[in-house]
This record gives sequence, structure tokens and C-alpha cells, in this order.
Amino acid sequence: MTHFVHPKTILERANIRPRKRWGQNFLCQPLLNEKIIDAVPPKVQIIEIGPGVGALTQILLARGYPVTAVEIDPLLVGVLQEQFAGQSDFRLVQADILQCDFTALVHEVDLPLVVVGNLPYYITSPILAQLIDSPVPVQQALVLVQREVGERLLAAPGTANYGILSVLVQAYAHITLKMRLNPGAFYPVPQVESTVISLDFRHPPVTIPDKNAFTMLVKMAFNPRRKMLRNNLKKLPLTVNQLAMLFQEANIEGSRRAESLSLTEFVRLTEVFLTLKPLNQPPRR
Ligand code: SAM
Repeated sequence: MTHFVHPKTILERANIRPRKRWGQNFLCQPLLNEKIIDAVPPKVQIIEIGPGVGALTQILLARGYPVTAVEIDPLLVGVLQEQFAGQSDFRLVQADILQCDFTALVHEVDLPLVVVGNLPYYITSPILAQLIDSPVPVQQALVLVQREVGERLLAAPGTANYGILSVLVQAYAHITLKMRLNPGAFYPVPQVESTVISLDFRHPPVTIPDKNAFTMLVKMAFNPRRKMLRNNLKKLPLTVNQLAMLFQEANIEGSRRAESLSLTEFVRLTEVFLTLKPLNQPPRR
């Protein structure tokens, strides 16, 4: 096991206070930290989002993974530079992760890419979107998220947590729950519970015919959640007859609600929608 120093001690020595605005809750239980990293597959390179004071970084480096860490807070960047100075497998980028192109962060071209992060919870959804849209393929992401977000990511159709986030992420990754963490695993202690989630992007469960159309349809279908599809999808640029045809050809009752639709059914709706000629648009060539 690596030599662990409590984040409170590291921060106090550097005269730094945890910043709420950057979602700074640092992992502070060394055995748990090791267990989280057990879920990282061998022979991969890592992009770490928000290394903080390096609780996960030091374990990753000790286990031989090349790590590129992206940290927004210049004060923490100073701490990390000092802590990992001279480690050839470690690269540190001071930046907002949402402004980064993963292509520029990859430095071992032959190794698959795994993203690891105790995510700043205020930007969980945009980070998930960034992983899905990454120009370089991400094999897996191992992320700590707020418990409620984890439940939405894992939710099955017909359950209360199944919604836009569930469909839009499950369409691209196999999602598994790795661990549950109580607030005591962090310093300072947050108000929320957390989960460690793995997203495996290697074999997406469905093939999306057109990403923009799929995203639009899913968002529209759930808005509002309690209404029937035939009401919510009225906003599509289709005639009344085309809308009826959409449900008929996709073999989905217009009286159903979005929360009852499986991933495959959302894909089928998108496929049929793409075959219909939308109103007010030039004919397709
Ligand atoms: N990985 C550390 C740990 O587990 O102890 C810290 C995790 S803390 C929940 C989130 C980290 O993300 C903080 O270090 C914070 O400064 C950093 N962060 C917040 N917003 C960021 C952003 N937009 N880009 C990069 N890092 C960010």
C-alpha cells in the first residue's frame, strides 16, 4: 500500500482551504481508495479528472499506470507538482476539464484509455456527455458520483429513477455499480452519499442511427414525464398523420409514457422518425 497522508494535513501544510465552488471533497480512507482503484483494468493509460491532492493518483502511479491528471485549482496544482515531481509516468495539466480535448491528453498511443475521477459533482452531467462525445475512444470510465445520479444512471425502464440521463448514457455504455461510499469517506464530509460507477464504452448495447435526432426525441418524450408520448411528441416537425405513422411503424402505443420505453424502443422511434419527411424542411436527397 502507498504511504497515505490525510488530505486535511496536506491542505493545512500548504495553507489551503477546500473550495466548495469546485466541489472539493477529498477521499480520506486509504483502504477504500485502494479498493476503488482495484476496478481499473490492467495495461491502460489514465486520464484523471480532478486529482485534488492526489489520493487516487498516488495509487494509480504506484500500480504502474501512466496518468495525465487535469486539475482546475492552481493551488492544488502546486501541491501535486511537489508531490509527484520527477515521476516520469505523471503529467499534470492545469485546466477546466470541460475545455479539454482528450486527444491532447493522451500520451501513450498504444494503450487504451480509461478515465478515472472523483468527479466535481456540479459538472457530472457535462463530463458524462464529454466522455460519450470524446474524439478518442474511451474504453472505460470509473467515476464517483452522487448516489442519486448513480441511481439514475443504473435505472431500468418503468422505475422512478429512469429518465433522460438513464437513456442518454445507457445507450453508449454498459453501466455497473462498483461501490457505495458514505459521507465519512470524504474530507470535508459532504451532505450527500456517493457511488462508484463503471461505464464500459466498448460494446454499446444499441446502435444509434443519428445522435442528434435520438437525443432530441428522448428529451422531448420525457418532457413532461407524466404525459403520454402522443402529447409530448406533438412538438416534432411532423403532420398529424406522420405522427400516427411514427407510432404505428415503431410499434409503440402513443398512449404510453416515456418512462416505460426500453432503449431499443427509443432507437426504433428514432429510426422511423428519420424515414419520415419532416415539415418545413427541404426534401432529403
Ligand atoms: N480526486 C480527489 C480526491 O478524490 O480526493 C479530489 C476530488 S474532488 C471531489 C473534485 C476535484 O475536481 C477537486 O480537486 C477540484 O478542484 C477539481 N475540479 C473541479 N472542477 C474542475 C474542472 N472543471 N476541471 C478540472 N478539475 C476540476
